[in-house]
Amino acid sequence: YTMLEVNRKDTKELKELSQSFNDMMLDLKAHDENQQAFIMNASHELKTPITVIDSYSQMLKRFGREKEDLLDESIAAISDEAKRMKYLTEQLLSFAKVTHHSEHFKPTEINVVNVVEKITERLEAVYGRKINLSSNKETVKIKVDTDTFDQLIKIFLDNAYKYSNDEITVGIKDKDNTVDIEISDRGIGIPQEDLEHIFTRFYRVDKARARKTGGSGLGLSIAEELAKLNEAEISVSSTPDEGSVFTISFKKSGFKKSGSFEEVDDE
Ligand code: ADP
Repeated sequence: YTMLEVNRKDTKELKELSQSFNDMMLDLKAHDENQQAFIMNASHELKTPITVIDSYSQMLKRFGREKEDLLDESIAAISDEAKRMKYLTEQLLSFAKVTHHSEHFKPTEINVVNVVEKITERLEAVYGRKINLSSNKETVKIKVDTDTFDQLIKIFLDNAYKYSNDEITVGIKDKDNTVDIEISDRGIGIPQEDLEHIFTRFYRVDKARARKTGGSGLGLSIAEELAKLNEAEISVSSTPDEGSVFTISFKKSGFKKSGSFEEVDDE
């Protein structure tokens, strides 16, 4: 190297370094703004129930002893809003957990048919509603992290339950390249123009109605993170007043790469 060449090389490296430093700062800034928006949204969502609880307890303090009907109304409202806050904080916690989940992530091979059957049986009891389960094969194996898999399925079943009054259907389809789990309901459906937004944090199609169903608008964004962790993809098709179908598609090729899928003995 002549002196000049070394210098030129150094300058190039320096330029690259400063460029990647710049990129890093931009990433950090975007991350910060993202986090700030998240905190603002979350605080806003928590503020509404707190305001309701606060004003009802003020009223109770002043008039609660004299007016019995006010007593009942206030207690019902306070209890409703407290439940909403509980749900929201639980959702916020699981959102925080899932974005830091990778270290506890343990993929194991499961028979989806058995695992989903257990989940639906448990939730049938909770909802008091029938969940139909069908599968094109008796045994369908995929490799997933069982904790996040359970959470993922539950989010879609909870939504199907919240946004319909009719039966819920879960179909497992072992296809050539994927294993698809379809969760369908015959409920209110989602308007076409909202479909692309429903995975956005805190997005709800109908805020007023969602308040009644106790939605936080976090479920599907959590689902998307959980799916990503399990290398699955989510798609949705929906018709207003007819119902919705959410499909979670697990790749089979991934398992082949890691070698475990082909070595499985069928039970
Ligand atoms: P939420 O806690 O409000 O249910 P989600 O993130 O799970 O939040 O869903 C976002 C929005 O998508 C919901 O508020 C609802 O408007 C719509 N949605 C989700 N699942 C369904 C469904 N099965 N049927 C109709 N609308 C749905």
